[in-house]
Amino acid sequence: MLNQRVAAAISRQINAEFASAYLYLAMAGHFENEDLQGFAKWMRVQAQEEAAHAIILFNYLTDRDLLPELAPLEAPPTEFGNPQEVFKQVKEHERKVTESINELADLALEEKDHATRALLDWFVTEQVEEQAVAHTIHSRIKLASGDAAGLLVLDQELGARTFVMPPPLNGRL
Ligand code: MG
Repeated sequence: MLNQRVAAAISRQINAEFASAYLYLAMAGHFENEDLQGFAKWMRVQAQEEAAHAIILFNYLTDRDLLPELAPLEAPPTEFGNPQEVFKQVKEHERKVTESINELADLALEEKDHATRALLDWFVTEQVEEQAVAHTIHSRIKLASGDAAGLLVLDQELGARTFVMPPPLNGRL
C-alpha cells in the first residue's frame, strides 16, 4: 500500500500537471489570436503532454487501488505579452515544475517508497528536457527580436511539433 503522504502529494502533482496543460492551452489560444499558428501548435502539443503527465500519475494511483483526489484547477492568465515574454513565462513555469517534482522525489526517498521514486526518475529526466527546450526557444526568439522574417521561420519550425505518447503512459491516455 502506498504511503498516504506520498499518495496525497501525487494527487497534488496531478493537479499541477493539469494546471500546466491549462496554462499552455491558454497560451495556444493567445498565439492563435496573434496568427502565430506554429507557436499555437507547439503550445497545443505542450498542453497534451502535460495532460499525459497527469494521467501517468493518475494511472499510478489507480493501479494501487487508490482514488486520485481531483481538486479544482486554477484559471490561467487571460493576457499574454509578445512571444519573448510568453517563453520567459514558460521558462519560469518549468523551473517551478522541476522544483515540485524534486520535492516529490525527496518525499518518496524520505518515505523509502522506491516504486514512486523509480517512476519519478522519468519525470526528473523529462524536466531537464522541458527546461532545455524552453530555454532554447526563448533564446531563438531573442535572436529574431524585431525581425519578422526570423520569427516566422521559427513559427514554421515550432508548427512541425507532434504529440508523442510518453513511454510511462503505456498508451493509457
Ligand atoms: Mg509536466
